[in-house]
Amino acid sequence: MENYHKQSILLVDDDSANQNNIKAVLEDLDLDVIIAESTEEVPDLVFQYDFALILFGVTPSNLSPFETATALDKDERTSYIPIIFQAESEDMRGLLEQGYAAGGVDFLHKPVRPAPLLAKVKVFLELDARQQQLAFATATIQEQNLKLEERAIRDSLTGLFNHNYLQEQLTREASLARRYSAPLSIFMLDLDFFKDINDSCGHPFGDFVLKEFAERVQNGLRSSDIFGRYGGEEFLIILPSIDKKQAEIVAEKIRKKVGDIVFSNSRYNRYVTVSIGVYSGFGAETESTGVIIDYVDNALYQAKSEGRNRVCHYKTPSGHHSGAANHISEMIGTTQQSQLNATIDKSRAMALASFEAMVHSQTREYDILADRHLLFIKVLDRLAKQLNLPDQLIHSFRRASKLHDLFRCYIHDSSLGTDGPLNDEQEKMQHYQPLMLRELIAMFDFFASERVILYAHHEHFDGTGYPDGLKGNEIPMAARIFTLVDSFVAMVAPVTEKQAKNREEVAEELRKFSGVQFDPFLVDMLMEIIDTEEFFITGREGEQDAVKKCT
Ligand code: GH3
Ligand code: MG
Ligand code: MG
Repeated sequence: MENYHKQSILLVDDDSANQNNIKAVLEDLDLDVIIAESTEEVPDLVFQYDFALILFGVTPSNLSPFETATALDKDERTSYIPIIFQAESEDMRGLLEQGYAAGGVDFLHKPVRPAPLLAKVKVFLELDARQQQLAFATATIQEQNLKLEERAIRDSLTGLFNHNYLQEQLTREASLARRYSAPLSIFMLDLDFFKDINDSCGHPFGDFVLKEFAERVQNGLRSSDIFGRYGGEEFLIILPSIDKKQAEIVAEKIRKKVGDIVFSNSRYNRYVTVSIGVYSGFGAETESTGVIIDYVDNALYQAKSEGRNRVCHYKTPSGHHSGAANHISEMIGTTQQSQLNATIDKSRAMALASFEAMVHSQTREYDILADRHLLFIKVLDRLAKQLNLPDQLIHSFRRASKLHDLFRCYIHDSSLGTDGPLNDEQEKMQHYQPLMLRELIAMFDFFASERVILYAHHEHFDGTGYPDGLKGNEIPMAARIFTLVDSFVAMVAPVTEKQAKNREEVAEELRKFSGVQFDPFLVDMLMEIIDTEEFFITGREGEQDAVKKCT
C-alpha cells in the first residue's frame, strides 16, 4: 500500500532455536522480523523502527524484559507498541502477574506453536495497519484544512491576502498599536489609469500587471507588513511599528519601484504608476478601522487629483472643513468630476498661454523654438504609443516641453546659440536650469507632474548627471523619456549652428549614449520608430534662422 511503510516486529530473545522457530512461522507474512539478543538494544531499536509488536522472551532468572517493558509503557512515544511475553509453560504462572503489570497484552508458550503465534501476530499487524491508515487520513485532512484556511484568506490572482483578512488584521493591528503605544501606518494603493491598461493591452496584460505589481511591492516589504488586495486594482498595506516619517520613505520606494520600471510581457511594454494614500497613527490616538479606511481613501483621492503617481498623507481637515467635505468625489457626480478635470486642464493651458504671451512680449522673438516643439510632440507621440503611455502623461510631457522652451528663451539662455564647449558662466547657468525650472513651476501647483520631469531632465542614466546624480531607475520614468526625446530633437533640429544629424548619425549617437546618458530600454524603443524618414525632413534652415534671432 502506498504511503504505508513495511511492517516490522521486534523479537527480544537470546535463544537462537526460538529465534529460528519464530522466523520460520512468520516467513510467509510481508514483514521484517528484527532480532535483539538483549533488552539493552531495545531503547534504540524502538526509535529506529516503527514496530507493530514486540515479542519479549522472559525467564524467572532474567526479569529485565519487564523493566524494559515498563519503561516503554511509561514513555508516551512508545506506550502504544503492543508487547507479548514468551515464557516456558512451567514458568508461565509465576510470571503472568508481573508481565501484565509491566504493560504486556498477552503471553505465548515456549516452544512456540505456529497456530497461536500466527493468530496473535496477525491481530496486531491488522491493528497497526489500521493505525497507519488513520494517521495518514488525519494528516491528509489536516493538510487540506490548512490549504482551505489559506485559500480562505488569499486572493486567487495575486496570491496576496484578501479583503476580509485585511479588515480583520487592520482591526487587530490598530488595537495592538493602541494597547502598546506603538506607531502604525496604513497605505491604500490604487493603480493609475488601470482601465486604460485593460482597454489598450487587454485583460490578460492587466492581470499580468496586477501579479507583477504584487511581486514588486511584496519584495520591498518586511515580513511583519501585511499586504493584500483590497479589491480590483486597489491594495492595502498594514505596516506595524512604522511612523509617519518612515511611512513616507517606504511609500515613496514603492511608488518608484512600480512607476520607474517598465512592465513587459511577451506582447506589451507599458509603464504603470501607482497612487498611494497614507495614514499614520500612534498609540491611543490610533483611529478605528472604518475611520482609517476613510482617511487612506481621502489621501488616495488627493493623490489622484494632484496628478497621480504620488504619495499623499491624510491631512486632518483644518478650520470648518469637515472630512466629508474634503472628499469632493463624494459630493459631485462623475459628469461634474470630468467637467472639473476639463476646467483644470483649461487652466493649465491658460496659464501656459499667458506665460507664452509674456515671453512673446518681452523677447519679441518668441517663435524660435516653435518648430522644435512640434517635432518634440511628434516624436513623443510615437514613443508614447510604443510605450502605451496614458494620454494624461503625454499632455504633461507636452506642457513640460513648452515650459522648458519658453523658460529657456525667457531667461535669454546665452548658451542657445553656442557651438562647442560652454564658458563658465553658461555652464553655471545650465547647471541651475533644472532648479530654476522647479522653483518657477512650484508657483503653479497644478504643474506638479511637470515639475518632476523638468527637475530631473538633466540626470544621466549612469549617475553622472545633475542636480542629484540619480542613477538608472532612480531617475523618474517621465524624466528619462523627456531627456531622450529632447536630446533626439536637439540632434535632428539643433538650435545652434551645428549641422543637423541624419538618421544614421542619430542612431550612432543614441547607441553611444545608451546606458550612459539615456535609458537603454527607451533607446531601443526609440530606435524602432526612428527608421521612418519623417523625423528627418524638417526645415533645417528655418530652424537655424529662428535660433539666430533668439541669441
Ligand atoms: P485611476 O487612475 O483614477 O485609478 O483610473 P483607473 O482606470 O485605474 O480607475 P477605474 O476605477 O476607472 O478602473 C479600474 C479598472 O480596474 C476597471 C476594472 O475593469 C479593472 N480591474 C479590476 N480588477 C481587475 C482584474 O482582476 N483584472 C483586470 N485585468 N482588470 C481589473
Ligand atoms: Mg480603483
Ligand atoms: Mg485605478
